[in-house]
Amino acid sequence: MAGAELIGKEEIKEIMDVLETGVLMRGDFFKERKGALKVPQFEKDFARYCGAKFALGVTSGSAALKVALTALDVGPGDEVIVPAFTFIATWEAVLEVGAIPVMGDIDGSLNLDPDDMERRITPFTKAVVPVHMLGAPARIDRIIEVAGKHNLLVLEDNAQACGGHFRGKKLGTFGDMGIFSFDYYKTMTTAEGGMVVTDRQDLYERADWYHDHGHDHNPDVGRALEGRTILGFNYRMNELQGALGLAQLRKLDYIIAEQRKNKEAVRGMLKSIKGIGFRNVPDPEGDTATFLAFNLTDEETTARFQKALGDNGVNTVCFKKNLWHYLPNWEHFLAQSTANSRKYPFRDPSYRGKVSYDRSAIPQAEDILGRTLVMGISVKMPEERLAAIQEGIQKAAKIL
Ligand SMILES: *Cc1c(COP(=O)(O)O)cnc(C)c1O
Repeated sequence: MAGAELIGKEEIKEIMDVLETGVLMRGDFFKERKGALKVPQFEKDFARYCGAKFALGVTSGSAALKVALTALDVGPGDEVIVPAFTFIATWEAVLEVGAIPVMGDIDGSLNLDPDDMERRITPFTKAVVPVHMLGAPARIDRIIEVAGKHNLLVLEDNAQACGGHFRGKKLGTFGDMGIFSFDYYKTMTTAEGGMVVTDRQDLYERADWYHDHGHDHNPDVGRALEGRTILGFNYRMNELQGALGLAQLRKLDYIIAEQRKNKEAVRGMLKSIKGIGFRNVPDPEGDTATFLAFNLTDEETTARFQKALGDNGVNTVCFKKNLWHYLPNWEHFLAQSTANSRKYPFRDPSYRGKVSYDRSAIPQAEDILGRTLVMGISVKMPEERLAAIQEGIQKAAKIL
């Protein structure tokens, strides 16, 4: 649970700054704020932390995906390649902008396989959304290379690996745009919240306009007199979220460092067990270590080992069976049960392509996820907890 474990006096202090002014929203009321501008400060600090030119705070990671896809002008008639293993929000965001998501397979990194991705490209492909799942990087260098070769836009969904990097460059800054989530489960949290980052001013401006009803945020006039070029909507981050973000961002490197220590400890307990292998992390140095993923030789053994671990107090997830993170299990998606009754955009007449979501088309995900078990790693894992895990693992290993 990472950042959520560390909510304390720093967060309270930041929140109180805001409550004392009484100004809870972003924008306007500059006199009453007495200098407290939490969201803009959080954006500035976050952009600097990531090494991105621009950052825009929004209401959630899901909103960040939609805002970014909109800024990238992805829409009706377009296809977007998305990995079959991700939180469902990545897929929903593509549908939200009226485009059609195309299923990509994963590789041993548990993230989008760049070679498979290349095979999914059609004349309708406009963008690709690689996701850095479970805290660790995709083969992002290769994904960027393939996308570049085919002139595709890249939006990195970095909701799950905030603070992670690939060869020293922060995740979320490789593509045209990147997004982050600060929901309560994520590496750092603002209760709900998200961020869009980019180096391109034109994309930042479109995202900024769109996320706030088109407001051009002209500092020289009041909000009521601001100009607009495009229509938008409301995905504004509020000052309480910005306050939490500032406090949590300052803890992010500590969170990652502690998790890395704890992950190494648990990894050490599993390493010597015959038949156990580990997720292939393209740059282990860039892993934020929120999860440890390990694998066994076949699905049946994996299920038995998972049960034995559970019986001994060690909980793991097999994502092939997970209801929210693996496309073949989304019966409502497969039935095209969109929130509107017209099954839009699946039935959009302007869409000329043809997609299939059959699980037989993602053989690597089917194989790898069925043999992979995932354990959550916390910031706080005291000796007793680690000892209990060690004991549970040793007992469970007897069935192998
Ligand atoms: C959490 C998550 C999101 C959505 O973020 P919210 O802030 O919960 O809306 C998007 N993509 C991935 C991969 C996520 O894990």
